[in-house]
Amino acid sequence: MQRIVIKLGTGILTKGIGEIDTVRIQSICSQIAELRNRNIEVLVVSSGAIGMGMGNLKLRSRPSTLPKQQACASIGQSRLIQCWQNGLDPYDLLVGQILLTHEGLRIRNRYVNAKATIDQLLSYNVVPIINENDSVSAFEIRFGNNDTLGAMVASLAEASQLMVLSTAPGLIDMDGTGEIVPVVENIDSKIESMAKGTNSPTAVGGMIPKIQAAKIATAAGCETFIADGSAENIILRLIDGESIGTRFVASKAPLVSKKRWLAYFQRPLGSIQIDTGACNALIREERSLLAAGITKCDGNFHAGDVIDVVSQDGVPIARGECSYSSHEIHQIAGKALIEIEALFSDRTRFEVIHRDALVLL
Ligand code: GLU
Repeated sequence: MQRIVIKLGTGILTKGIGEIDTVRIQSICSQIAELRNRNIEVLVVSSGAIGMGMGNLKLRSRPSTLPKQQACASIGQSRLIQCWQNGLDPYDLLVGQILLTHEGLRIRNRYVNAKATIDQLLSYNVVPIINENDSVSAFEIRFGNNDTLGAMVASLAEASQLMVLSTAPGLIDMDGTGEIVPVVENIDSKIESMAKGTNSPTAVGGMIPKIQAAKIATAAGCETFIADGSAENIILRLIDGESIGTRFVASKAPLVSKKRWLAYFQRPLGSIQIDTGACNALIREERSLLAAGITKCDGNFHAGDVIDVVSQDGVPIARGECSYSSHEIHQIAGKALIEIEALFSDRTRFEVIHRDALVLL
C-alpha cells in the first residue's frame, strides 16, 4: 500500500497572521479524499498551531519566549484540528490528532508504540493529523520545526513519499542557474549550500530544515518533494508524476528501522574516540566496535545509552547503543579482550557497540 506524509507549513494554512485559510484547507481535504479513493494512505503533519494562537491573541509578530509560543500553540492547536475535521467532514473522513515530542520518540518503546497507533488509525480509514506537542515541549527537547517532524514521521511510518509543502516552491540554485533544481539524486554539500533560512513572521524553517528533512526521509527509502503548497491540486499533481518543485530520489539501500532510530531520533549522551585501526574496522570491514581501539571517553552514560563514536580528529563517524557505562569504558579503553574477560567475567559478549546496534553517520 502506498503511504504518503503531507507536511503543510503555517504560511500555506493561514492568511495574514493567524487567520485560517479555509479555502486552502478545503482544497487539500478534497485531494486527501481523492488519494483515499485511490487506496493511498495519507498522514498530515500540520503546522499552524502557534500561528493561529497568535491570531487569536492578536499578536503581530512571533513571540520570542518559549512560554508565549507554548501559550499560542495551546490556543491554536484545538482550533486547527477542528478546521481539519470540518474540511474532511464532506468526505466522511475522521481525523485523529497525534501530538509528538522528540523526547518521546527517543524512547524505543514509545517510538514503536507511536508507529502502532498510526498503523491502527490508518487501518480505521482515519487521517492522522500530527503536530509537535508544542505547549509542553521544552526548548532542549524540541523538534523545533515541522520539516524535521515530517521527515521523522515519514521514517517512523515507513511512508513511500513525503511532500514538504510551504510557500517555498522548491530548492533554488541561487548561485548557479537561479532556477528550481528539479531532481536531486544525492544530497551532497553542494545541495546543502543552496539552502537558506526564512524571514517570515509565522514560519520557523526556511530551506535548511527542508533539506535536512529530505536527507532523513530519503535515507529511509522515502521519495521526498519540496513544492509550493499554494499551487492548484499540488498533491495530486505530484503523485501523478508531474515535475513541479524539487524531487529528492529515495535511497536504494535504505537504513533498517533500528538504524534510522539510532541515526535520527537520538541525542547522544556521550562519545568515545577511537584510533585509525578501529575506524577502518567500523567503516571498511563493517565490524563491531571493540575496546582495544578506544583512546578517550567523554560524558556520563549508562550501559544501553546511545553515544557517538568519533575519529582521532573529532569527526563523528558512527552512533550506537553502548554495552558499557562510561565508568566501565574508562576501565576497558585500549585493553585486549583477554583483560576485559578477566574484569567482566559475568559477561558473555564483549563488543562495546555491536554492529546491529551501530549506524555509520
Ligand atoms: N509546530 C508549530 C506549529 O504548529 C509549527 C512549527 C513549524 O512550522 O515548523 O505552529
